[in-house]
Amino acid sequence: MEEKQRLICDKCKVELAELEVQFSYLGKSFRHKVSRCPQCGQVCLPEELVSGRMSEVESMMEDK
Ligand SMILES: [Zn+2]
Repeated sequence: MEEKQRLICDKCKVELAELEVQFSYLGKSFRHKVSRCPQCGQVCLPEELVSGRMSEVESMMEDK
C-alpha cells in the first residue's frame, strides 16, 4: 500500500506539485524530487537535503 505524501503550502493553502529537479553540486549533477508550490513557487525540500549539502545547492539555484 503506497500512501502519497501530500504537502500543502502554508501561505497559499494549495497542494504542492512534485517535480524532479536536477541539481549540480561540486561538478556532479543529481536529480531529486522536490515539492513546489504552483502559486508562490516555494520549494519544500526533503530533510536529508536541507540538513546537509542542500544549503550550497540552494544558493546555486538562486543564482540563475
Ligand atoms: Zn504557496
